[in-house]
Amino acid sequence: MGSAIALQDCRALDAADPLRSLRDLFTLPDGLIYLDGNSLGPLPRAAPERIARAVQQEWGEGLIRSWNSAGWFDLPQRLGDRIASLVGAGPGQVVATDSTSVNLYKVLSAALSIAAADGPGRDVVLSERSNFPTDLYIAEALCRERGFRLQLLEPHEIAGALGADSAVLMLTHVNYRSGAMHDMRALTAAAHAAAALAVWDLAHSAGAVEVDLTGADADFAVGCGYKYLNGGPGAPAFAWVHPRHADRFWQPLAGWWGHAAPFAFTPDYRPAAGVGRYLCGTQPILSMIALECGLAVFTAAQALGGMPALRRKSLALTDLFIALVEQRCAGHGLVLATPRDHAQRGSQVCLSRERGACAIVQALIARGVIGDFRAGAPDILRFGFTPLYLGFEQVWHAVEQLRQVLSDRSWERCEFNRPQAVT
Ligand SMILES: *Cc1c(COP(=O)(O)O)cnc(C)c1O
Repeated sequence: MGSAIALQDCRALDAADPLRSLRDLFTLPDGLIYLDGNSLGPLPRAAPERIARAVQQEWGEGLIRSWNSAGWFDLPQRLGDRIASLVGAGPGQVVATDSTSVNLYKVLSAALSIAAADGPGRDVVLSERSNFPTDLYIAEALCRERGFRLQLLEPHEIAGALGADSAVLMLTHVNYRSGAMHDMRALTAAAHAAAALAVWDLAHSAGAVEVDLTGADADFAVGCGYKYLNGGPGAPAFAWVHPRHADRFWQPLAGWWGHAAPFAFTPDYRPAAGVGRYLCGTQPILSMIALECGLAVFTAAQALGGMPALRRKSLALTDLFIALVEQRCAGHGLVLATPRDHAQRGSQVCLSRERGACAIVQALIARGVIGDFRAGAPDILRFGFTPLYLGFEQVWHAVEQLRQVLSDRSWERCEFNRPQAVT
């Protein structure tokens, strides 16, 4: 721990922050410190007007003509290309579509088809026990359907568990609970050394950390549109398929949007070339347009240094938060649950506490500091740090509120101890 950090120091960091102008591209309530952009990103300032135009002009006046004239039809590919530039993928390799869960079903199914084509005996899907549950549920369902077995491991067991029976290694790059980040390149290489495929979920990485799918030589990836990409509640997610696999198998949800010629209306299915076949049916255009507004912020960030600059600031924010918690909240039973090593840290910081984590988070929310709570053993207070709109002074104030809630024990009040439907 270094010398005591003062509020002035945080203000100086803000003054020197090359990305500080990006905050103006969002609408956030005054005085609110939003540390939950890893769960639902905030509203891009341009979105309400853009969506209103899509509703009133493109839908209201253009009607069905807007599929062509307003460019609705190829939005999945256009947005996919923008996402590709954030995750180290090439143009034409990503589609924005459906939900993360549905896209995982599609790509994992294709990966299992490739593994099955290698012959019998390759029947294990490996994943991490603390992976996000929907990923595990989808894998479990597919394994049951396709005669594979799902093997759940602790992170340190993964490399050693890969072997002759391994079909697919399916991991989430940054863990939703702990914020720990895997070494995508090393684990993909380990999977390939065992002749298995690597499927990555980028839900907590895309737009948050630098990702290089091509450099890591990954096989498939999916990710989320409403977290760090700020696409709005229920925003379309995305899917990436390495070009070496894109034309090899059908994905199982072979709908007409993935057909080579949907408007030929032929009775038989002929998959589109490339990642286009990973589309299924008609897209939620208004949500696509909201996601486009979220992605436009990254285009603006590109001029200020892009993902490398965002990553530098993200690490500076999480370093500052950790240091301030350790200096100002010592003795209150908080334990850092996120790796200190930058190479192993995503864009969030988790603190565990034996008791009261949920109530502490609720007390913080009542004071205008929004983080979230994840149940488990131990319970976790989770704080996401999005460098697009957070400043260093806000980190100071967030920790100050945390210090106050802990030292005056206000979190013990019963209003903060009621269960909530969504945490
Ligand atoms: C947020 C998240 C999801 C969300 O899936 P949906 O289908 O959008 O509900 C899936 N996987 C991981 C790892 C996530 O973090």
